[in-house]
Amino acid sequence: MIYFDNAATSFPKSPRAIAEATACMRTWCGNPGRGAHFLSRIASEKVYACRELLSDFLGLNAPERVVFTQNTTYALNMALKGALKHGAHVLCSELEHNAILRPLHALQQERDISFDTFPVVGRTHEQILQEITARIKENTAAVVCLHASNICSLSLPLAKIGTLCRSRGLLFMVDAAQSAGHLPIDMRAMQIDALAVPAHKGLLGIQGCGVLALGECISLSTLIEGGSGVNSLLRTMPEEFPERFEAGTLPVIAIAGLCGGISHVMELGLPEIEERANRLFFAARERIASLDGFEIYQPDTPGAVLLFNKIGIPSTEVARVLDKSGICTRAGLHCAPLAHQALGTPPGGAVRLGFGAFNTSAEVDVLWRVLRHEFC
Ligand code: PMP
Repeated sequence: MIYFDNAATSFPKSPRAIAEATACMRTWCGNPGRGAHFLSRIASEKVYACRELLSDFLGLNAPERVVFTQNTTYALNMALKGALKHGAHVLCSELEHNAILRPLHALQQERDISFDTFPVVGRTHEQILQEITARIKENTAAVVCLHASNICSLSLPLAKIGTLCRSRGLLFMVDAAQSAGHLPIDMRAMQIDALAVPAHKGLLGIQGCGVLALGECISLSTLIEGGSGVNSLLRTMPEEFPERFEAGTLPVIAIAGLCGGISHVMELGLPEIEERANRLFFAARERIASLDGFEIYQPDTPGAVLLFNKIGIPSTEVARVLDKSGICTRAGLHCAPLAHQALGTPPGGAVRLGFGAFNTSAEVDVLWRVLRHEFC
C-alpha cells in the first residue's frame, strides 16, 4: 500500500504518537481536572505538558491559551462563532476550505454577517496584501484564512497579513490544518489572534483532537457549555482559560498521541520535512509531466500537495484505478469548491497527492508506472 493522502490525515502514525497514546491508556488515563486522586492529577499534568509543548511550538508563550478541541473544524467554529458579532464583515481567501466557508455561511444567515474573498492564485505577496486592503470596509472585523491550501502548495504570507490586520484593528484568525508540522508558525511574530490546528495531519498525531490557540488580544464567547471541573456552582462557564472553552471530558488519549507526534516532528525538523515534501513534489511533477494528456495545477509552487488530472477522465475514476493498485489518493473537490474554481479544475475536481513524512521517491516511481500502464 502506498499512502498519498496525508493531506486528509497522516498515515502511518508516528511510532511516538502510538507509544504515547498506548502508554496513556495503560498507565495514566484518568480524567484531568476531575478528581483529587493521583490518576486525575497525573492526567492533568500530562495534558498541561502538552499545552506547554504546543505553546512553544506555535510561538504562543501562553500554555493556558491552548484549548483542546475535537478537530480543526471545531476549533474554527469556536473562533468564528465566538468572535464575530452581528453585522460584521469578514475577509477570507479564495482558497478556503468548507471548515471556514460553511460557518461563515451559517453566520450570514444567523447574524447578518457578510464576507468577501480575496484572490491569491497568480498573485505576489504584495499583491495579496493590496487585494485584502482594497476590500477592507468600515465594518470589517477580521481576516480569516488558511496558511497552506489543501489542494495545492500555495501558502499565504501570514506575517505580512498579521501586520496589516494589527495596523487596521482587525482580528486575524488562521486555519493551519495543512501547515502545522510542515511550515514554521509563530503566532506572536505573525500577530495571529486565533489559530486552528489538527493533531492528525502534519503533527503526526492520531484522530480525535485539535487545538485552538488564542492570542492575548482576542475575546470569545463560548460555543458550548458544560462541566469544566472547576467552579461547579457557577451557572456560566468559568472565566479561566482553558477551562472556559473545554466543556466536558478531554480526548486525553489523542492529546497524548499529539505530544508524541510533535516531538517526532521536532526531531525531524521542519526544514527537513519541507525539503522532503519539495523533493517528492518535484519528482512527482517530472514523472506525471512526462506522460501524455496529464495536467498539473500550480506546478511551479513546490510543497506537500500536488493536484493533477488525466484530461478527459473523471478524477474519481483515476483515484479508483490507483486504489485498485494499492495507491491511496483523493479525488473530487476536497471540501474546497472555491479553491478548485480559482485553480481552474473541471467540475469533477482533480486528483490530489498529499505527501507525508514517511513517503519516498520510490513510491512516486510506482505511482508513475501505474499511471503510465493504466492511462497511456
Ligand atoms: N482546513 C483545511 C485547509 C483542511 O484541509 C482541513 C482538512 N481537510 C480542515 C480545515 C478540517 O480539518 P479537520 O478534519 O481536522 O476538522
